[in-house]
Amino acid sequence: MFVCQHKRNFPFSQLRTEGLPAILVINSTIILTGSFKRSGILFVLSAPSGAGKTTLLRALLQNPDFVYSVSCTTRPPRAGEVDGEDYHFLSEEEFETRAHAREFLELADVHNHRYGTLRATVLDRLRQGVDVLLDIDTQGAAMIRADASVAGLVADVFLMPPGLEELTRRLEQRGTETPAQIATRIANAAAEMHHWRDYRYTLISGSREEDVEGFRAIMRAERALTRRLEFP
Ligand code: 5GP
Repeated sequence: MFVCQHKRNFPFSQLRTEGLPAILVINSTIILTGSFKRSGILFVLSAPSGAGKTTLLRALLQNPDFVYSVSCTTRPPRAGEVDGEDYHFLSEEEFETRAHAREFLELADVHNHRYGTLRATVLDRLRQGVDVLLDIDTQGAAMIRADASVAGLVADVFLMPPGLEELTRRLEQRGTETPAQIATRIANAAAEMHHWRDYRYTLISGSREEDVEGFRAIMRAERALTRRLEFP
């Protein structure tokens, strides 16, 4: 603990605490400064595909102050996707073995493929006080909320597409799915959108900049939640 006696109008920015909490005493008034401790926050982002989630994630990852959790999937890689960066691409057998060994914090079948979040990586980071971001569907988000080991650390956000027509347009423009796959994704999107009320935050997708600003504002607010902070 660092204690400092000083006169009024001491410029706080000049108080060097080297990351330690400090007590500043001004005219007998004690003011706490310095850093608080907290566990990592488990940010969960869900959105129907085509809602702008990938664009938002890419923008956030340009200047990351969190760790992005790389999921496992049995879906084949799309052009340009890198194993270990976008996903850990697994065979059905590999996925099943890991699921059987309870390596997944949550898992779900989405668009006829399997997806799962690796438990150990996420929990280790959270314990270290590092914030983690999961990009998972609504089934996975429900499993995370129901898991007592992480439920208190969750800040979940639903990115709502502006409308189904716009969603269809964005998916067609992306050009990575066949018309049949687009139809599956639109049907799934409509089903997923029913779950928006389960999330603490709902962001209506606008421009890339608006989505980034909205998400960053949520991150800032969650990091300032009093109940998350400990003063050692
Ligand atoms: P895509 O195949 O387009 O990358 O992802 C399809 C859907 O799977 C997206 O809604 C994405 O959020 C979801 N997803 C990706 N990784 C996971 C995961 O680890 N768990 C769950 N439950 N969903 C995931």
